[in-house]
Amino acid sequence: MKLRSLVVGLAAAALTLTACGQSGSPGGTSEPVVSNAPAADVTVAGSPVFDAMKARGRVVMGVRDDQPGLGFKDATTGQYAGFDIEIARLVAAQLGFAAEQIDYKVVPSAAREDTISRGEIDYMVGTYTINDNRKQRVSFAGPYFVAGQGLLVKEDNTDITGPQTLQGKKVCSVTGSTPIQRVRDQGLTDQIVEFQTYSQCVDQLISGQVDAVTTDDAILKGFASQQPDQIKVVGETFSTEPYGIGLNKDDTALRNKINDILQAAYDDGTWQKIYDETLGKSGSPASPPALQRY
Ligand code: GLU
Repeated sequence: MKLRSLVVGLAAAALTLTACGQSGSPGGTSEPVVSNAPAADVTVAGSPVFDAMKARGRVVMGVRDDQPGLGFKDATTGQYAGFDIEIARLVAAQLGFAAEQIDYKVVPSAAREDTISRGEIDYMVGTYTINDNRKQRVSFAGPYFVAGQGLLVKEDNTDITGPQTLQGKKVCSVTGSTPIQRVRDQGLTDQIVEFQTYSQCVDQLISGQVDAVTTDDAILKGFASQQPDQIKVVGETFSTEPYGIGLNKDDTALRNKINDILQAAYDDGTWQKIYDETLGKSGSPASPPALQRY
């Protein structure tokens, strides 16, 4: 009996090692929330981006790597996890790609339009607000989630309670994001501290260099849930941030296909399962939003 289970154990270990060794992209083999078996015989008539993906035999997904609950790369395992990552993987699978055929490319807020329009990624899933300004350069499937701008402060802070309490405060956010633009447009403070990533802002908050971090509540709640004794989310949200899957501006066929994929995941409970197992753990309950077909 003992020998038998040892043999089984060794065989399982060997399988695991083989799987790791074959993976060309670190993170591609992490355990997904849903099974993500690749769909068979997928066609997307009239989609140049899909044709390029097929010819390459791989999909290149734009993601984030420092947003807990949304798009996060574990420093020790090298594996990606989170709501956005799961949505990106679901799309890849429904387009016919297996986990080993996925490449993850980290794209910061300010680089998303450029990276998509240059064709360096096939699609972007990373807290990417759909808006008219961005639609001049890219298109969006979705929305697959709706967030809202919020504020993150030190746990013992009492004077910051909403956007109107930021005057004279040092407020940190990310270059090229809609929340930093809103702070500027509405003149909420003249002391804006700007970085490429939200984790840099959170570090500055914890070390006392800035008074608040502002961006989507979903992102802020993820950080707060990691260090609840140090930082907290305060006040009501003060914007609407519908998250879309960023795509080549002219590839209407791929946008329609991805919208169909999302709709199916809304209808069969897959979206709900993904949400509950990722973002739902640090945020509030949510259900899928209505798609914007255009
Ligand atoms: N959703 C906002 C945006 O697209 C903020 C989050 C981010 O920077 O990715 O700009």
